[in-house]
Amino acid sequence: MIDEARARGEIAVIGLGRSGMAAARLLAREGARVYASDAGQGDAVSRAAAELMAEGIAADGGVHDMARIRAAALVVVSPGVPPEALPLATAREAGVPVVGEMEVALHALRGVPYIAVTGTNGKSTVTALIAHLLTALGYDAVAGGNIGRALSDVALQGERPQWIALEVSSFQLHDTPSIAPTVGVLTNLSPDHLDRYPSVEAYYADKALLYRNATAWSRWVVNADDQTALDLALQHPGTRSAFSRRDEHAAAHYEAARDALILFDRPLLARGLLPLLGWHNVDNVLAALLAVMVADASHQTDAARAALARAVQSFVGLPHRLEVVSDSGGVRWINDSKATNVSSAKVAIEAMTQPTIVLLGGKHKGEPYTALLEPLRAHAKLVLAYGEAESLIVADLEGHVPLERCGSSFEEVMQRARAAATPGDAVLLAPACSSFDMFTNYEARGMAFRLLARQGA
Ligand code: ADP
Repeated sequence: MIDEARARGEIAVIGLGRSGMAAARLLAREGARVYASDAGQGDAVSRAAAELMAEGIAADGGVHDMARIRAAALVVVSPGVPPEALPLATAREAGVPVVGEMEVALHALRGVPYIAVTGTNGKSTVTALIAHLLTALGYDAVAGGNIGRALSDVALQGERPQWIALEVSSFQLHDTPSIAPTVGVLTNLSPDHLDRYPSVEAYYADKALLYRNATAWSRWVVNADDQTALDLALQHPGTRSAFSRRDEHAAAHYEAARDALILFDRPLLARGLLPLLGWHNVDNVLAALLAVMVADASHQTDAARAALARAVQSFVGLPHRLEVVSDSGGVRWINDSKATNVSSAKVAIEAMTQPTIVLLGGKHKGEPYTALLEPLRAHAKLVLAYGEAESLIVADLEGHVPLERCGSSFEEVMQRARAAATPGDAVLLAPACSSFDMFTNYEARGMAFRLLARQGA
């Protein structure tokens, strides 16, 4: 698609953030005629446009030339530009195909094998684990995509890694028509992003695009414990390898009798040696191990198994995912700011082993909170509801679990948590909401939690 568009005319890049810039440069490097633009009014945008122009790439900062976009052979959009944005609507109306920066990056990196990871929860953890495992097997492997570093940035540096672990969001799948991973992983599926999708079905339909180029030679890692995800995988050709916490026929599974992770009928690692909290992380480790082992037969030898078992133990969990940020005065403060939907908050609460004060709140995303009742009854000493979603949380949970309203100051929420905590308790930030009512993103929310927990709120 990229080659064909390059031959036909100009390629318009929308958005001059880091990945938009990288995409524009990659395209120019491959000989395409590029027009890049961003309607942002700030200095950063004008500087970015000036930089591109100095390199001989046509660019506008502060304005989009709509006539030029309408006449383009292809539009490339940076992640974060909403689909309803005017330049995209204009392109669609004019019949110009729209793709994401990941499409450009995959084109530039063609020939490099990659393991793509999507799903509602666990994507970043599984992606980072896969890159870590591949590195432990001696490869030059990188993690990219929706995690930390845009893929176009990896491509632009002129790197040609031996393997890529690629995290792909539903939005990115929508805009990456050529996605065809060596191995594709679907971690799980549950309702999310109902603030951005018209229905759960529309969200799942984007997730299904992982399989858009499936052939009989494709390899898929599937979650045998998640019927929705499994049903989706079953509709597409290729070889499926399953992971499961219960099904002892699955290629990767947990076996209670031996308390171990079993890969291809043999124990690989005792559950007690996993460095990550919670049963959901058993799923994540099983999925990552399985993806790496099916990626190449040489990853299944005894030597490779031993290296993989060691590598799992040296994996350092990602920040904002069940991250213990303080353990002073007998109270353990745990930051799971990345639990931005109900299903992820649920597994975080289930992972608790102490009486727990749970901080729930933020910007509502559309799902009811009633699914949290059972784990809260089992683990919560107190629920502190706060932020824009406060009243909805209270309406769903009040009368069933000890609950207090905490308003819209995060400092106040933390003070209340500190006052209520006694030695032996945990305080868990697992908000089940996005952060945008009070913070710029989930990282800022997690950093505020970390800072206040350590300071003594
Ligand atoms: P993603 O990239 O899909 O958002 P992360 O690995 O960043 O996933 O984890 C986000 C949150 O989701 C974690 O903080 C945790 O609460 C929850 N989570 C992680 N792995 C799983 C899983 N396998 N199943 C359900 N929830 C999970």
